[in-house]
Amino acid sequence: MAKQSSAQKSLASGRRDSERREEIKMGGWAIAVHGGAGVDPNLPLERQEAAKQLLTRCLNLGISALRASLPAIDVVELVVRELETDPFFNSGRGSALTEKGTVEMEASIMDGEGRRCGAVSGVTTVKNPISLARLVMDKSPHSYLAFSGAEEFAKKQGVELVDNSYFITEDNVGMLKLAKEANTILFDYRIPTVGLETTCGGATESPILMNGLPISVYAPETVGCVVVDAQGRCAAATSTGGLMNKMSGRIGDSPLIGAGTYACDLCGVSCTGEGEAIIRGTLARDVAAVMEYKGLGLQEAVDFVVKKRLDKGFAGMIAVSNKGEVAYGFNCNGMFRGCATEDGFMEVGIWD
Ligand code: ASP
Repeated sequence: MAKQSSAQKSLASGRRDSERREEIKMGGWAIAVHGGAGVDPNLPLERQEAAKQLLTRCLNLGISALRASLPAIDVVELVVRELETDPFFNSGRGSALTEKGTVEMEASIMDGEGRRCGAVSGVTTVKNPISLARLVMDKSPHSYLAFSGAEEFAKKQGVELVDNSYFITEDNVGMLKLAKEANTILFDYRIPTVGLETTCGGATESPILMNGLPISVYAPETVGCVVVDAQGRCAAATSTGGLMNKMSGRIGDSPLIGAGTYACDLCGVSCTGEGEAIIRGTLARDVAAVMEYKGLGLQEAVDFVVKKRLDKGFAGMIAVSNKGEVAYGFNCNGMFRGCATEDGFMEVGIWD
């Protein structure tokens, strides 16, 4: 008979999550952040550098909070707020635009301790949607609020509200224009395809296109953070404006618990990529499920899910385990990401 993992043993013995955590906790704290999966292969070096600096800043923010003994759930919220406030990635200010040129943001947060969660969609005036998701978790009887109901709740809670124009950046207006010209929803994580040959000054060129657009065009990317604190509590948070030129009212994976975000006593997971594929594969929950039911380790679980649960879609994820481990996985050319662990390890990266 195959050796049982401690999680399986405690499951069989009917122990509560908190007891199980005590038993299998081994490492210290760990944190991972992402700024989205799928990267323009021609992304200018200055932009790559700016992405790495932002990820490093966010990791350092999280590290200071963990050193100050903040619980995992507070740390993921803090880090994602920082990413939402900076216009670089696709969340909060800098969010991808709908076909109408407006911003409709969504976010979710989950505390592995007690499996509590909160999510919002269709938010148009809330400066930090991740904090509204946290309030849904902490201050409402529900798990998920959307559109006008979410906005009303935000007003009642007194969160910072701004005009929708605050979220709209010049870069994104330009990208929406290109997406509309190509009559496409911009998925920047698609594998580049060779375009039609054109003749220019007697020479024949085959421009590289990505989803019908020149590859020098890059779409903004979703953000996420996962943390295990020194007590072995896992948490996850994800925030996004969704896809460039999406239909108004479209809901992606990022606010969906089990698809874009999941945390339990074993792990915390945040996904990014083609939302419809992540939803079909319930990627985030499946990482926890194969750890729990198949006894896989964290990296094995991430690799298994990326390989087996993504059909035609492109996506990636970051994950931490209650043992203080960190893992990444993606099936596209790159993912903006970084991680740090209590033993002093820290890295940020973009490419495979
Ligand atoms: N997953 C996001 C969505 O489909 C997009 C992304 O991760 O870049 O809304």
